[in-house]
Amino acid sequence: MSQQMLPNYVGRFAPSPSGPLHQGSLVAALGSWLDARHHQGTWLIRIEDLDTPRNQPGAESHILRSLEAHGLNWDDTVVRQSERLPLYEAAIHQLSHEALVFPCACSRREIEDQGGIYPGTCRSGLPFGKVGRALRVRCAETTLQFIDRGLGPQSEKLAEQTGDFILKRADGVYSYQLAVVVDDIQQGVTQIVRGADLLRSTARQLFLYSAFDQTPPQYLHLPLVMSSNGQKLSKQNRAPALDDQSPIQNLYSALCTLHGALKVSMKEAPKESIADLLRWAIQNWAIPLQGASPIIWDASQMEFSHDHRVPHSAPSFLNSA
Ligand SMILES: [Zn+2]
Repeated sequence: MSQQMLPNYVGRFAPSPSGPLHQGSLVAALGSWLDARHHQGTWLIRIEDLDTPRNQPGAESHILRSLEAHGLNWDDTVVRQSERLPLYEAAIHQLSHEALVFPCACSRREIEDQGGIYPGTCRSGLPFGKVGRALRVRCAETTLQFIDRGLGPQSEKLAEQTGDFILKRADGVYSYQLAVVVDDIQQGVTQIVRGADLLRSTARQLFLYSAFDQTPPQYLHLPLVMSSNGQKLSKQNRAPALDDQSPIQNLYSALCTLHGALKVSMKEAPKESIADLLRWAIQNWAIPLQGASPIIWDASQMEFSHDHRVPHSAPSFLNSA
């Protein structure tokens, strides 16, 4: 076995129960599971059910049944964000102590009318007569940089690209960015492997890691499955649910999407049983952890390329702009 040992590897898959798994979410689940199993790590499931208006009855058990049907076993008890609200409140408290939180009275419409990036309207106090409904975090004027294990060096200027972002929405729901970071810290997650649709969330999450004075995890963003009309498969655009009766075909197809992460051709994949196919994929998973020779992922092609080497370097966060 040439599997890389990493004693404290903790990964996770964090679906929202807004519908059943589809082929796109299977790719994210499988990539995250393979990376954890290849590194002999722990793989957790967290149900991200804070956005209650979008939750669908029965979706959580449907998702868990689908994962089981596809041989993606998890460690430890399934965690639900709806049962962890005190953690998010305490986190906001902590940030308030650092003077990083402010109330905001702006509507989504008002922000969109000004270009979609929060212009800082309520940053130094609410405008006269306005009532603060949401809570935002005060972002620093810095460039956040990290090395994605697949895509290579990434950087984002938060102030220019998103601005001060929401921690708690006007309807009282804790934001995705806050809850994800609080949970990943609390659960000891060291590796985040997820779809590339979340790449642009990473800078906001790194900013929160820094605000909480915590070491951030490493990131690997996986290619997205596109429908024939060029849209990302998602619950919102009604991607069909996975057929749990044909797990080998589904897994094979997900591995074809992830083929750039494997060191051998999909032509060699065994198709007789789920267990054989998964064992083969674990052995041939080839994305090194950071610190090992990095592979740069050409974002325009969404394919791995071994041609572009970057110098070994530790990820650096919050470098001054
Ligand atoms: Zn505002």
